[in-house]
Amino acid sequence: MEDKARHQGLRNQLVSVLEQKGITDKNVLDAIKKIPRHLFLDSSFEVHAYQDKAFPIGSGQTISQPYTVAFQSQLLEVKKDHKILEIGTGSGYQTAVLCSLGAKVFSIERQKELFKQTSSLFPKLNIRPKYLSFGDGYKGLPSYAPFDSIIVTAGAPFIPQPLMAQLKVGGRLVIPLGEDVQIMTLLIRVNETQFEKHEFGEFRFVPLLEDKN
Ligand code: SAH
Repeated sequence: MEDKARHQGLRNQLVSVLEQKGITDKNVLDAIKKIPRHLFLDSSFEVHAYQDKAFPIGSGQTISQPYTVAFQSQLLEVKKDHKILEIGTGSGYQTAVLCSLGAKVFSIERQKELFKQTSSLFPKLNIRPKYLSFGDGYKGLPSYAPFDSIIVTAGAPFIPQPLMAQLKVGGRLVIPLGEDVQIMTLLIRVNETQFEKHEFGEFRFVPLLEDKN
């Protein structure tokens, strides 16, 4: 579990790549500069950890591409102490970026192995999400709602209604929508009944799966 000067150098290069690709949020770029992505991957992928690519993390899942993590994080407009719900903890890398931005992060994962693996990784890296849940992200976390923002990190066939209900007025829901290819979608809750929708082009995610329990 080592983070060396060499890794820091590679992270600085990765941040330049993200800037070139259009990421402008200084806080997001700083978080990516800090979080040791190589420690969220199987060690056989370590040499590739700072390429702007997705990689397998076991259980048929992937760690999102850094550009995607940065893009979604930027859309969330995270402020310190924001309460954020993440669907799809996976490797925990996106969770770690949000924690580094000062958010109180609640995250749900439906694959038991990943849930266990990632839950035990955070304390080793001194990363402290508020609450990690093993369960179905389609349902959100009603007992902890409402949230300042919600991020879905798997491709969703539709917007789960419970997630819309668990968003504060003024809150932001960032969700990749679609089956084979997803359109990055931002919903802003304007008032109790209305949501404003913005779309941001194509991304590719593993699917948001229905409950298997
Ligand atoms: N944020 C992760 C992305 C992992 S890929 C990272 O940075 O590594 C998407 C994750 O969503 C996978 O781990 C997958 O198991 C999980 N997932 C898929 N459907 C889900 C559901 N219904 N509820 C919770 N998690 C789900």
